[in-house]
Amino acid sequence: MLVDSHAHLEMPQFADDLEQVIQRAKAAGLSHIINIGTDEESSVKSVELATQYGLIYAVVGIHPHEARLVSAATYDCLRKLAAHPKVVALGEMGLDYHYMHSSAVIQQEVFKQQLRLADELELPVVIHQREAEADALNILKEHPPAYGGVMHCFSGDEAMLNECLNMGLYISVAGPVSFKKAHCLRQLIAQVPADMLLLETDAPYLAPVPYRGKRNEPAYVKHTAQVVAELKGLSLDDIGRITSLNVRNLFGIPAGEEQSRVVYPIRRSLYVNLTNRCSNDCSFCARNKSYYVKGHNLSLEHEPTTDEVLEAITNQSGDYEEIVFCGFGEPLLRLDTIIEVAKQLKFQGLKIRINTNGQGNIIHKHNILP
Ligand code: SF4
Repeated sequence: MLVDSHAHLEMPQFADDLEQVIQRAKAAGLSHIINIGTDEESSVKSVELATQYGLIYAVVGIHPHEARLVSAATYDCLRKLAAHPKVVALGEMGLDYHYMHSSAVIQQEVFKQQLRLADELELPVVIHQREAEADALNILKEHPPAYGGVMHCFSGDEAMLNECLNMGLYISVAGPVSFKKAHCLRQLIAQVPADMLLLETDAPYLAPVPYRGKRNEPAYVKHTAQVVAELKGLSLDDIGRITSLNVRNLFGIPAGEEQSRVVYPIRRSLYVNLTNRCSNDCSFCARNKSYYVKGHNLSLEHEPTTDEVLEAITNQSGDYEEIVFCGFGEPLLRLDTIIEVAKQLKFQGLKIRINTNGQGNIIHKHNILP
């Protein structure tokens, strides 16, 4: 599953074959496309696309290039558009000092106004920043987006990256991460926690290798995903699942059926989730924030029996190097189940591992290791 979190399908480059572009996106495994407005007209068209196609959601706003054209009526227009149920954010807004199509002063004012409007409308923001790091950060610190946001097509340095992450902003990665000379960008993206990453095409621009220089389209997001997966030491499935969940969390897009997982794959390992109980109560426990791990829902409705665990392992397709008892809790609380399940798996020649908080002997009041 993949999501293109930033595309411009309303642009004339897609006028002749939009239907085929959408079909190719579906065939490539995309569940959603977030279509981004850059001015009033494209924002209206984004909402029309979202109305027409189930997988498209819309973002409405004014790109810094167009800031000089903004009037009070523009904000009224954005307010009206934002009332549509498939408008999930405001943007793309921000600063672009590369071409200076609008003066820096006007860009800054329009950026601030849109940040205020997003708070008023209780929406997250999509931020464009090019060659304006210091001013963009200053404005974001003065007006931190109350409902979160994403730095689209991140292009800053390490200091900028850390500031954005400290503000809780997601980092979106586009095609340039695949370019031959983008060593610095790849190093930076490798540092971003997977649960703060989004993937995008910025279609029709910035096509990733092997399409560099051609028209970009949402289906190509999988090439960017492959590069990011390698940088994070994850599989393509892992990075697709994690970044799709990140998009849903940021933009409040409802999920399909997300059943809790008894077994869940990460890389070449199959993990077994036996319990949500733990003998510890760590203040930093990730369960205090969310029961999702690498995009999997680990909130158990009930603790699975031995038969249910074995059935879940049997039903999970894939070629795994190991089975790991490691849920969102302390697996050794269910020592008897571990022994029964592991015994049967070892007969099948499978490698077994247990991730534990080290309190097995305390829990069971004897040495359990033998
Ligand atoms: S699951 Fe891990 S982090 Fe959470 S309370 Fe238990 S030992 Fe601590």
